[in-house]
Amino acid sequence: MSNPGVIVIGAGVVGLSAALAAQARGLSVTVIDREGPAAGASAGNAGAFAFTDILPLASPGILWKAPKWLLDPLGPLSVPPAYALRIAPWMFRFWRACSAARVAHSTVAQTALMDLSKAELEPFLAATGTLDMLRRDGNLQVYEGEGELRASLPGWQARTDHGIEFHHMTAREMADLQPGLAPRFTHGTFTPGWYSIADPKLFTLALAERFRAQGGKLVRAEVTALRPLEVGVELTTAAGAGLRADQVVIAAGAYSHRIARTLGERIPLETERGYNTTLPGDAFDLRTQVTFGGHGFVVSRLSTGIRVGGAVELGGLDLPPNYKRAEAMLKKAQAFLPGLKPQGGVQWFGFRPSLPDSLPAIGRARATPRVIHAFGHGHLGLTQSAGTARLVADLLTGQPPAIDLSAFSPQRF
Ligand SMILES: Cc1cc2nc3c(=O)[nH]c(=O)nc-3n(C[C@H](O)[C@H](O)[C@H](O)COP(=O)(O)OP(=O)(O)OC[C@H]3O[C@@H](n4cnc5c(N)ncnc54)[C@H](O)[C@@H]3O)c2cc1C
Repeated sequence: MSNPGVIVIGAGVVGLSAALAAQARGLSVTVIDREGPAAGASAGNAGAFAFTDILPLASPGILWKAPKWLLDPLGPLSVPPAYALRIAPWMFRFWRACSAARVAHSTVAQTALMDLSKAELEPFLAATGTLDMLRRDGNLQVYEGEGELRASLPGWQARTDHGIEFHHMTAREMADLQPGLAPRFTHGTFTPGWYSIADPKLFTLALAERFRAQGGKLVRAEVTALRPLEVGVELTTAAGAGLRADQVVIAAGAYSHRIARTLGERIPLETERGYNTTLPGDAFDLRTQVTFGGHGFVVSRLSTGIRVGGAVELGGLDLPPNYKRAEAMLKKAQAFLPGLKPQGGVQWFGFRPSLPDSLPAIGRARATPRVIHAFGHGHLGLTQSAGTARLVADLLTGQPPAIDLSAFSPQRF
């Protein structure tokens, strides 16, 4: 095989966006994926550009909710006993990231990446011919009682401080925006600046197609190791060593740390496994994405159906899925949206690539500046894809990155 300029490992939304951004800077780019485009989390997510979600998941609020959630084996958060010991060091780091000082630091960094991602998104969609897939239909977070709304107010205050628009709503106002909510939801908050994509899998496939049409090469192979050379990087695949690149981007989602490990780098990437069911489009007349925050799931309106899903299962990459979680969320959705037709659904589960402080790793590898890490976006990989792509292109071309990358350093742990 020839020696391409840049090889991106991973044809998910992060890898393909980075590949397209690199192409736009005139670089010659190959994307390698062991299964082909849109094989991972980028296919089945909830489709939200959650730009207003600037508060890290690792925060005191989650520490209050977690014990209650953990009591329900099919609830919003679970740790399968078979993985409890393995995940303990990650959970310890997560807990440490929940201090007020660390949260404030992460929020500043997250806000900068969100602002960049939002600014980059529309030009990126326009340049890749995918702008017609963007929807500006906002998000409605609903609460069971005034107490739940009040408990959420500090988070909304932090968003006010960052200039994010939102509107608290009464049940009557919510009914105008989204008819059909169960009466138990007495309050809500609408964020108009929360966008979504018509369908995340079709979007990722469209990016792959665009990349190919512009002369990019997509190769199907599993990368098992990287090795720095005097000039460039050698990649080993199942077919053996010998593949070379000037620069490599690791964007292999929840598997990225395994590749980084072959360079001697230990990055505490874990997976927050999530589940969903996609129902036919006429299952419910959904007008906006609805978040049932107290129950850890969302209902999204996609061009391909109504998707009910979320949940976090800290079960690693190798345990089999437990689709009872998808069923439990669907059952709740039926109670929360009484008109919802639950028949004809397709279940899915996927791996959010998550670092303990809820920020991604974007930056150069310790072993060589020719390898760039771009992974660990957790719940926000689609949201932050255009911003990450811009930053990767900056690094690949030796430009100063558009935002300060110190908080995203892969070596921060
Ligand atoms: C239930 C759920 C809902 C979500 N909802 C949202 C949402 O609404 N908005 C949002 O922004 N984010 C959401 N996310 C998170 C989002 O899906 C992820 O952060 C994002 O898809 C990560 O993209 P990625 O490109 O890094 O990884 P992936 O999409 O997982 O892609 C990684 C690719 O790397 C390939 N690969 C792995 N190892 C190798 C190897 N060794 N060699 C070659 N190829 C390899 C895989 O085949 C895969 O194609 C959600 C996630 C889940 C699970």
